[in-house]
Amino acid sequence: MANSREVELVIVGAGVAGCTAAIYAKRYGVDVVILDKGIAGGQLLTVARIDNFPGFPEGISGVELSQRVRQQVENYGIEIIQQEVTNISRQDNGRWLVQSTEADWLTVAVVIATGVVRRSLNVPGEKKLRGRGVSYCAICDGFLFRGETVAVVGGGNAAAEDAMYLADICEKVYLIHRRDRLRADAYLGQRLLGNGNIEPLWNTVVQEIIGEEEVEQLRLRNTQTDAEWLLPVTGVFVAIGEIAHTDWLEDLLELDDGFIRTDMSMRTNQPGIFAAGDIRNTVVRQVTTAVGDATIAAYSAYQYIAQRRGEVYGEYQEPK
Ligand SMILES: Cc1cc2nc3c(=O)[nH]c(=O)nc-3n(C[C@H](O)[C@H](O)[C@H](O)COP(=O)(O)OP(=O)(O)OC[C@H]3O[C@@H](n4cnc5c(N)ncnc54)[C@H](O)[C@@H]3O)c2cc1C
Repeated sequence: MANSREVELVIVGAGVAGCTAAIYAKRYGVDVVILDKGIAGGQLLTVARIDNFPGFPEGISGVELSQRVRQQVENYGIEIIQQEVTNISRQDNGRWLVQSTEADWLTVAVVIATGVVRRSLNVPGEKKLRGRGVSYCAICDGFLFRGETVAVVGGGNAAAEDAMYLADICEKVYLIHRRDRLRADAYLGQRLLGNGNIEPLWNTVVQEIIGEEEVEQLRLRNTQTDAEWLLPVTGVFVAIGEIAHTDWLEDLLELDDGFIRTDMSMRTNQPGIFAAGDIRNTVVRQVTTAVGDATIAAYSAYQYIAQRRGEVYGEYQEPK
C-alpha cells in the first residue's frame, strides 16, 4: 500500500510555473505541495542566459533564476518532493487522487505544470555547442545573432515564425527542411517564401554541427541525392517541435495536439484541475507567460478550494 497523504492543492512540476503557482497559493492560505520527477527548475536549468525576463537588465542564467525561485518557495515553507506523478483520478467525494511513484495524494485541487521537452536533432556537435550557437528559442536568443547568417531547422509553424523573426534581425536566414514543402500554415508559408532574406533549403537534413568554441558551419545532406556540403553559419535554431508528455492524462483531460486545453482562468475540462505554463495550449512559451499562467491558475485553484471549504468567496463556476 502506497504512502498516503492529504493536502488541499497538489502542484505537478517544479518549473517556474509550478513554483509560482505554489507561492501564490500559499499566500492565499492554501495547504500546498509540489511534486517533481526531477530536480526543481525544469527547463530553466538548461537555459544559458535569460535576457527578456523583466528585472534583470544584465540578464540572468537559467540556473541562477531557478535557484532564486526555489529559495523563494522554501522561504514560504512549501515542500518540493521528488516524485513522478503517474495518474490522477476523481474520487466519489469529488476530491482527486494524485498517484505518484512513491505516494497517494488525496487533494481538493491540482495544478498541472509539467512543461515540455524541446526536440533535439541528435547530431554530432549539437550537445557540445548548445548555448554557443545552437539554440532552441529564436525569441530568446535571436538578438545575439544580429547582422549574422543563421539557419533555422524545421518546416512547421514554429520554424516558419522563427525564420520570419530572425529575418528582421539577421543578415541572412537559411531554412533547412527535410521535405520539399512547408508544413506551416499557408499564410505563414507565403509570407516566408516571399521574404528575400530567407532562403529555403528543401530536402535537406543537418548531419553535423561544426565549430571549436562556437558554431562555425553545418554539414548538410540532400535527402534526394545524398550529396553533402558545408554551410557557414554562426547560429542554428532548432525548431522541430516540443514534446508534451501528456499520454498519462489522455483519458482525463481535453488535449490540443498533446497540450492541455484551458480557458482563460487556467481551468481544464475537469473541475478542480488547472494547468499552467508550457504544458498549456498557448501561443508563446516563455518564463513570463509561465509566471502569468501560474498566477491565474493559483487564484482559480484558491477560489475553487475556498468554495469547497464552505467559505463564501469569489465566483468560481464549473467548467462547461
Ligand atoms: C534552451 C531554452 C532556452 C530558453 N530561453 C528562454 C529565454 O531566454 N526566455 C524565456 O522567457 N524563456 C526561455 N525558454 C523557455 C522557458 O524556459 C520555459 O517557457 C519555462 O521554463 C517553462 O516553465 P514551466 O514551469 O512551464 O515548465 P518546465 O520548466 O518544463 O517545468 C516542468 C517541470 O515538470 C516536471 N514534470 C514533468 N512531468 C512530470 C510528472 N509526471 N510528475 C512530476 N513532475 C513532472 C519536470 O521535471 C519539470 O521540472 C527557453 C527554453 C529552452 C529549452
